Amino acid sequence: MKYGVNEHGYYGDFGGAYIPEMLYPNVEELKQQYLNIINDEGFKAEFDDLLKNYVGRPSPLYHAKRYSEKYGANIYFKREDLNHTGSHKINNAIGQILLAKRLGKKRIIAETGAGQHGVATATVCALMGIECVVYMGEIDMARQAPNVSRMKMLGATVVPATSGSKTLKDATNEALRDWIGNPVDTHYIIGSVVGPYPYPDMVARFQSIISEETKKQLLENTGSELPQYVLACVGGGSNAMGMFYHFMDDESVKLVAVEAAGKGVSSGESAATTALGKEGVLHGSRTILMQTEDGQVVEPYSISAGLDYPGIGPQHAHLFKTSRARYVSITDDEALQAGLLCSQLEGIIPAIETAHALAQLEKMTFEPNDNVVICISGRGDKDLDTYIKYFGY
Ligand SMILES: *Cc1c(COP(=O)(O)O)cnc(C)c1O
Repeated sequence: MKYGVNEHGYYGDFGGAYIPEMLYPNVEELKQQYLNIINDEGFKAEFDDLLKNYVGRPSPLYHAKRYSEKYGANIYFKREDLNHTGSHKINNAIGQILLAKRLGKKRIIAETGAGQHGVATATVCALMGIECVVYMGEIDMARQAPNVSRMKMLGATVVPATSGSKTLKDATNEALRDWIGNPVDTHYIIGSVVGPYPYPDMVARFQSIISEETKKQLLENTGSELPQYVLACVGGGSNAMGMFYHFMDDESVKLVAVEAAGKGVSSGESAATTALGKEGVLHGSRTILMQTEDGQVVEPYSISAGLDYPGIGPQHAHLFKTSRARYVSITDDEALQAGLLCSQLEGIIPAIETAHALAQLEKMTFEPNDNVVICISGRGDKDLDTYIKYFGY
């Protein structure tokens, strides 16, 4: 694949594994084994069976008629919101738990910000009867109490991260510390296409089911497996990478990645990484991240917890730098309005993350015969409080 990872773990200038010496054995073990394991027929059969019978795949490709009328093109929704646990995150969690079992691991750790990845991880650990420890910033635990309860009900231990800003990056540090201390029995499930190689490639492969299905469904619906446009929101970038994966090498398909502008790109409260960031190292890989002149990571902001991340995965940095994909950003206000519109035009309340991708339609013009696919990365149940506060229902 032209835009895929090379044998050294890089996508052009980006990627690699920038890790402390102490983590080397853990990451090296994964690097040596992940392709053999996930390409094994037994693995594939178990993965496919769980995606079908536990997650509920294939997720529908829905022709959104009222959206199509409004925007003057054929708009299709890829319904990851209908997956078990409510988003695309479960695809990766299933893949990684099956990998962990084959590596002989007895214990799973994860970090979580809003709690969506923590819930997906706790879910697959319950499914497999494996111990699960989720690190979560103390402040996030207070902000996202229902997800903390979900993880506990699923049998996970939730450990508060009490250092620094008590949010996602501190939870990530705690998880890494745990992994260094437990290299033999523990697997670390990272929730997006970020982190040291091989994580970005591994997570992209697990999420690539999204575009694999979409191609077949488009062929049935439109007579061609290639659309004119594909859109997805980007936090770390896993739903977008899954949605882009099997379209990347077809240069006729325009890829649009939507970041969170927060209160505006120049407001000082934003998570628009490609607009504001520079090249550097974040969470183990060389990528593009928001940083100060002297290289300190800038605290991002978005109303959507899932997009509130100061970087993007290294493959996205490569797609951005080569201009293979277009990176745009959408403000909090624009996203919330798009969430309301989707609810009232299509009867689908989207996650606020997803609403960023939907909002981008307002800024595009189409030919009447264009086929446009948007990844509906998750459902909006978790965001009802935020929507309600904003619209005053
Ligand atoms: C976590 C999340 C995202 C952002 O993560 P990516 O890795 O960029 O996909 C987007 N949408 C939903 C619903 C999420 O839960």
